[in-house]
Amino acid sequence: MAEGCPTVEDFLKAEGLTYHFAPIPSNPVYVIVSYINDTQIQYLQSLKTVSKITQIGTSYQLASRKWKKNPTVIKTGSLEIGGEYPVLIAGPCAVESEQQLYDIASFLSKNGIKFLRGGAYKPRTSPYSFQGMKKQGLELLRKVANEFDMKVVTEVLDYSLLDEVLEYADILQVGTRNMHNYQFLKGLGKVDKPVLLKRGLSATIEEWLLAAEHILLGGNEKVILCERGIRTFETATRNTLDLSAVALVKELSHLPVIVDPSQGTGLSKLIAPLSVAAIAVGSDGLMVETHNDPDNALSDGHQSVNFSQFEELLHQLRNISRLNNRPFDFEMQTVNLRTR
Ligand code: PEP
Ligand code: MN
Repeated sequence: MAEGCPTVEDFLKAEGLTYHFAPIPSNPVYVIVSYINDTQIQYLQSLKTVSKITQIGTSYQLASRKWKKNPTVIKTGSLEIGGEYPVLIAGPCAVESEQQLYDIASFLSKNGIKFLRGGAYKPRTSPYSFQGMKKQGLELLRKVANEFDMKVVTEVLDYSLLDEVLEYADILQVGTRNMHNYQFLKGLGKVDKPVLLKRGLSATIEEWLLAAEHILLGGNEKVILCERGIRTFETATRNTLDLSAVALVKELSHLPVIVDPSQGTGLSKLIAPLSVAAIAVGSDGLMVETHNDPDNALSDGHQSVNFSQFEELLHQLRNISRLNNRPFDFEMQTVNLRTR
């Protein structure tokens, strides 16, 4: 065995071990993917710069609960995802106009919602469908969110748009169609903003966690997983919302997991029951498409709740949070407002 190596890297090189370096700001780490024997482990442990060696045993490492026991809490400003209170992210599928976004954000904000979602660049199945307001949509999201002191969650469609979206967004959404775009995920590993990673529409849980691993390995620890339904033989719902994955991933990984029942079911009437179910299985939050006029929405109106359905959803979420003894962030907000 190679003795007298002053650094971890020298030793790993001398021993011919395969490794990757993750420049995680809070705790830089070497991920060793070769078999490593007890003597090699002992030598590494004797080095002053090594604080911890963990043997993981799964294909994903940094995303694993074995690597990090405590749940990761992701901060954006003073807000947290994955912390004590589940979060509710809401807003239209797509930004359509200033008035539309203003009306929706004003309604949401009155109900204590702190995260505004909205697509500016839309990944549509048909090239003939509405593709989003693009940069103007981003500008509107920022303007309206600032007015109501909300955070912006919006999709970044590809690497060429990253700098533009970074200018306006607080949380970068990676769509289901991009979960397998590994080069793009690696790029997001270099970014200092949370990434909301949708599950690929036919991705296994392991593939989903490995997608998160690409981002984590780049040094970005702020990954939020989002279950949004997978494609099955079923056609009565748009996708099959896999809540078993949520319960399992909460065990397998320390990363926060949220659920998108809108893409998950494709039916506005199923959003409240599936939201309640998602919270019951341990989801750290929800992302719900909400529209002031779903019948005339330019994108995904059939799976967007209107304002009265949204109020009913809040009512049901308050009930489940009381049962769970885990209030939502929007409830905390209303308590704060009342006691001020
Ligand atoms: C969306 O959130 O509007 C969206 C397009 O999501 P997904 O990538 O999950 O289909
Ligand atoms: Mn949508």
